Amino acid sequence: MAELTVKVPTIEQTEYRIHIGNGLLETLLERIESQFPGQKPFIITDQNLVDAGHIKTLLNRQNVPVYTITPPGEGSKHIQTVVSILEAMEKAYLGRDSVVIAVGGGTVGDIAGFAASLFKRGVPVVQVPTTSLAQADSSVGGKTGVDSSLSKNAYGVFWHPASVFMDVDTLSTLNDRDFRAGLVESIKHAMILDAAYFEYWEQNIEAILAKDTQVLAKLALKNCQIKGHVVQIDPQEKNMRRILNYGHTIGHAVESASQLELLHGEAVAIGLIGAARIELAMGIGDQARLDRTESLLKKLGVPMTIPSNITGETVLDLIKRDKKAVDKWPKFVLINQLGQVHQKDGQWAVDVEQVTVKQVIDSLY
Ligand code: NAD
Repeated sequence: MAELTVKVPTIEQTEYRIHIGNGLLETLLERIESQFPGQKPFIITDQNLVDAGHIKTLLNRQNVPVYTITPPGEGSKHIQTVVSILEAMEKAYLGRDSVVIAVGGGTVGDIAGFAASLFKRGVPVVQVPTTSLAQADSSVGGKTGVDSSLSKNAYGVFWHPASVFMDVDTLSTLNDRDFRAGLVESIKHAMILDAAYFEYWEQNIEAILAKDTQVLAKLALKNCQIKGHVVQIDPQEKNMRRILNYGHTIGHAVESASQLELLHGEAVAIGLIGAARIELAMGIGDQARLDRTESLLKKLGVPMTIPSNITGETVLDLIKRDKKAVDKWPKFVLINQLGQVHQKDGQWAVDVEQVTVKQVIDSLY
């Protein structure tokens, strides 16, 4: 038997810039053209962004093809949309010299990033997040993908953006419920890595809810610093990146059980309370921290209890089916104190007994 080794270089692109500010969309194409000279832009967005008027300048540019995802939202996040985008790119005679521009929330970003990774074996994607969730979380980190008929984010790849443009002005037209829910990821960032940022949240909640653009730009910057830091250390979620799942083990289960009735951030808010109660039960939490978390989430106006039409057994069963479960039970990310994740034997996610989780779930009604 003959054997040989083929050494493949690591990913070509090792860094990208995140631009944060107001009014960035006005000059977006010029900025992208100067970053990718001679490359052909292809814009992917959704109907709500078109209706909100944010991309008027982009739509008015001749010879820049635009794909509008319809209907907007999670219902279109499936493989057929990706196929349809790839066909539209081919029909527009695009080649490897194209650059995909994803203007929208997390669904547009996930779909467009995945399509970009597949087109002609991969073209760059520029993420232009327009929701609080996408600006806090999904546009940074390179996770892309779509849902299958059976589960969320079933097919996908890591495809890091070539750059990110966060225009906080776009949040002005985002509906209140999506705006508030998307901000839960931002509170999660503070809880796992930055106690001072949590205090900033407590002191500025009114300005945040009033969509003060200076405060929103500060949040965007802080979120990108925190998520960027984690992603740099563990780009493919082999270990430390798991801390971003704080509150998500119970959160994901509640989200799935609600069958899209709850938004992702709303389910994570319930999961954050759940995690804090597990910490209390395990002797690494404290009541004052739980009170502060509950008070902040209450002011944010997101749900903090499991809807009564979802049973505790269903939530527990879905936790057993968690992507990261081993022998039908996942480990949990917990914190010792605000800004500090609890580690055991070098692991960022730890064992929690089923009986403890069951009691906590029962307390979340
Ligand atoms: P979304 O993209 O569905 O946007 C929510 C709604 O707001 C949609 O109807 C959209 O059309 C509309 N919208 C977007 N921007 C708007 C604006 N500026 N003005 C008016 N309306 C606007 O939802 P989302 O919360 O941004 O993202 C959720 C998705 O993100 C989920 O599919 C989730 O799986 C994914 N996600 C991905 C990652 C990742 O790392 N890739 C992380 C977290 C979540």
